[in-house]
Amino acid sequence: MSAIHSTKRKRKTLIDTYRHKGMRVQLVSELKGRGITDVNVLKAITEIPRHFFLDNAFEEWAYKDVPFPIESDQTISQPFTVAFQTSLLNVKVNDKVLEIGTGSGYQAAVLSQMGAKVYTIERQVKLFNITSKFLPSIGYNQIRILLGDGYLGSERFAPFDKILVTAGATYVPDALIQQLRIGGLLVIPVGDKVQKMLRITKVSETEVKTENFGDFRFVPFLKGINP
Ligand code: SAH
Repeated sequence: MSAIHSTKRKRKTLIDTYRHKGMRVQLVSELKGRGITDVNVLKAITEIPRHFFLDNAFEEWAYKDVPFPIESDQTISQPFTVAFQTSLLNVKVNDKVLEIGTGSGYQAAVLSQMGAKVYTIERQVKLFNITSKFLPSIGYNQIRILLGDGYLGSERFAPFDKILVTAGATYVPDALIQQLRIGGLLVIPVGDKVQKMLRITKVSETEVKTENFGDFRFVPFLKGINP
């Protein structure tokens, strides 16, 4: 997919060099070493210039396997976490995917690069404004970015094949299960200080199957919109 091209923004020059590509290859080999095997996930991470999603001054950090601060006291998730959550979603081309917690837009770009139809919700107005301009500026015109409270999902665009929550929830919001198609998957980290990575399959209108994939730490999944 040729979604990426070099372009200029007011505060940022976006150039993807061989050095950056080399750092991505290195990052992908670390992710493989940590057990990520989904070739489509690894391909998307290889293709997307993650340093575009951080300020220029921090671009070295884009290819380290660590979370990093962005606007509004939020973080861009650690590459391993992005790779792990995306692998759990088992993304297929044309899957309709709802992401909750747009943040920098990187996770949404990974899903889009894999051929999913992506809807993403952010509650912080400032982040929503920045990312709504940024993603189309690097070629991701198809991603629908919504301002809202992810606890409510998106009635308007439901049902979804997959839903991915990228903030730490204290419980599984019923609306998200409602908005899944039968057979659909919800990947959501649930817990107070530490979260269990849960994958919930909607088996029928009344039944779900829940699998637990271990401990992670996320910024909190908060209610309402922050103006
Ligand atoms: N997926 C992001 C990671 C963002 S961190 C990325 O790739 O960069 C989690 C994000 O979830 C934050 O931006 C936070 O503001 C957002 N968030 C927290 N609670 C939310 C809610 N109820 N609805 C929508 N977004 C929420």
